[in-house]
Formats: sequence, C-alpha cells, structure tokens
Amino acid sequence: MSELKLLCLPCDGIGHEITAATLSVLDTVVSELDLQIFIEHELVGFDSHKKYGTTLRDELLVRAHTEFDGVILGPMSTMDYPSVSEGGRNVSGGFRVGLDLYANVRPAKSRPSIQNKATGMDLVIYRENTEGFYPDRNMYQGVGEMMPDPDMALSVRKITRRCCMRICRQAFSAAAARRKKIAAIHKANVFLMTDGLFLECFREVSREFPEVQTEEILIDAFAALLVRQPEVYDVVVTTNFYGDTLSDLASELSGSLGLAGSINANAETGLCMAQAQHGSAPDIAGKNIANPTSLILSLAMMLEWLGDRRGDMKLRTAGRVTEMAVDQVLDNPDYWTRDLGGSASTAELGGYVSEAVCGIAQASAIKS
Ligand code: NAD
Repeated sequence: MSELKLLCLPCDGIGHEITAATLSVLDTVVSELDLQIFIEHELVGFDSHKKYGTTLRDELLVRAHTEFDGVILGPMSTMDYPSVSEGGRNVSGGFRVGLDLYANVRPAKSRPSIQNKATGMDLVIYRENTEGFYPDRNMYQGVGEMMPDPDMALSVRKITRRCCMRICRQAFSAAAARRKKIAAIHKANVFLMTDGLFLECFREVSREFPEVQTEEILIDAFAALLVRQPEVYDVVVTTNFYGDTLSDLASELSGSLGLAGSINANAETGLCMAQAQHGSAPDIAGKNIANPTSLILSLAMMLEWLGDRRGDMKLRTAGRVTEMAVDQVLDNPDYWTRDLGGSASTAELGGYVSEAVCGIAQASAIKS
C-alpha cells in the first residue's frame, strides 16, 4: 500500500483557495487509486505571524524534515512581510535551505488549446535553489546584502562546487531520461569566477553522461533564443537567479504563469516540496478566481517524483493521472479560469480536474 505523510501550508493571498482546490483533486486521486495519504495542516505566512509572531517557525522545519515525506506550500506575500527582525521570514527560502531542497524543477509546456507564444515548447529548467544571489540563503551567518552607507548597497553572490555539481547531476540524469539534450545557461564571459565555476562543474558532470548532447549559452542570448526557437530546448540547467527569471519567462510564453508547476527536491534525502511558480496574487485573493493549475501540477510532479524515488508505481501513476487530468481540462475552454479567458472559479476548475481523474482512472481500471 502506497503511504505518504504530507504537510500542507496554504500561506498567503490566493494560497488558501488554490490549496483547497489542489487538496480536493488529491482526495479524488487517493480514493480512485486506493492510496493512503495523510495530510496535516499548519500555519505559515501572515496566519503564522498573527499567532506566533513569525511567518515561519523553526519547529516546522524540523518537523517537515523528520515527520513528513513531502510539503505542499502555497505562495507568500513576501513584499508585504515585516522585516526579519519583526518576524517576516521568507517561508519558501526557509524551506529550501532548511530542508536542503537544492533542485528547483520547473517545466514549461505549450498546449495547442491554450493561446501561447511558444509553439512546440516542452522543456524543464533545473534551477539551483540554495545559494547564488539570494541574500537570505547564501550566508552561514548574516545576510548576503549590506549597506555600508545610506547611498550604497552591495550584494554578494555565492557559487560553490558542491552545489553546482549536484544540480548539474540532477539535470543530466533528467536529460538522459528525456531527449538527451541539455543546455547550461551562464554569463561566464563576465562572471569569470562564479559562472566559470558553474561551467567547469557542468563540463565535469557531462563526462558521466556521454550520451547527452551539451550546449553552453549566455543568459542574454538564451532569453532571445527561447522566444525565437522555444521548441529546440529540452533540459536547461542554471544557477539560482537566472533560473528564477528564465522559468517565469518560459511559463508566460507557454500561456500563463498560472499554469506552471514546480517542485523543490533533494535526491539524496528524498524530501520534496510542491510549490506553484507564481506569487500570492493579492489583486485577486479571496475572489475564488485564481487558477489553481500551477499548484495541482506541482502536486502531480511531487507524487511522480516520490514514486520514482521509492520505486512505487502507484504513486508514479497518481502523478501521471493528475497531469493527464489537468491536460484534459485545459483542452476545454469552458473549464478555464479568468486568466485564460474563461469564467470558471478556482473551486470549479479543481472539480473539473477531479472529474477528469475519475474518468481516466475508471477508463484504465488503474485501481485493480
Ligand atoms: P504574482 O505572481 O503574485 O502575480 C503576478 C500577476 O499574475 C498578477 O496579476 C496576478 O493576479 C497573476 N496571477 C498570479 N498567479 C495567478 C493564478 N494562480 N491565477 C491567476 N492569476 C494569477 O506576482 P506579484 O504580484 O509580483 O507578487 C505578489 C506577491 O507574491 C509579492 O509579495 C511577491 O513577493 C510574492 N511572490 C511570491 C512567490 C512565491 O511564493 N514563491 C513568487 C513570486 C512572488
């Protein structure tokens, strides 16, 4: 019997709505595929700040590490958080570093039914998640940004061999199982040491995967090439900030940021966190009009990733069925939310995906 214990953290803004829709889909998957998934809800973000004086308690990180197989995290209203000294911790950064979830996996796929600017795109970006320019996660003590005086601000970027090697290895493994093509995105013509070290690691790992065809592309050129020939790329590996930016570009080219799933994972510990790519969308929060697709697809990715890692076919199938159900729903404009030009509510879209899960599971008699 496939068993999982998941920690669910709706967080801020549209987080509660899209998490509720995602959990309704998970309920259906659990009953259709006869899985055992236990879910515990906890507070992070503003809900946690109100009750505990901090947006993220250390205790939750410890529990996520020791008691759970995976985390479902909603989006944060980071821009509105109070300062760190007043309890405004970056929840996502806290989990990524606290659980050492070094691989942020962000697929972007254009669908014929959804208006997009990237016909034929089907790629996945492997973004390093635990260092780089991000000041809340690149220092042992202190933060990677400082102001020597009120008119000067400095930012430190940390790139390590260990982190470059492990993200490259994950990306190459994925490429070997896909179209056997990988592109490293960098700016080593200017950042000679930091991006230079990243490229050195990319080349070293490439020797372990002789069957994978490699390409090295400058980030500025890649931004243009992604728009010009999106169908060419398969697996893309890069450092933290470049990956963050390029994955939003790729998702938007595929039709909407609201369609973009992602996981944060550590292949060695087996921990995984499903997290939508977009933010907390305060402009539409509480209106039941947000598109929950991104978080539902993130859940699908997490189930498949956990299934792969444990050799558990049922979990793997659960992920695949969820993704197929989303694809089916997105094929029908009557089921679209407002961001895609439709009028379905967040909860309705979740309901349509659940119905599609039932249809797929019953048609293929998966349970038996
Ligand atoms: P955003 O992604 O929240 O919103 C950008 C635009 O996309 C908005 O018009 C919004 O309505 C729309 N949008 C986003 N998700 C949608 C969905 N699921 N369905 C329909 N429309 C959707 O970015 P922002 O407005 O720049 O940031 C808002 C807050 O989110 C800020 O506090 C920011 O710091 C935070 N943020 C958090 C994360 C995260 O939690 N990982 C990521 C990015 C931004």
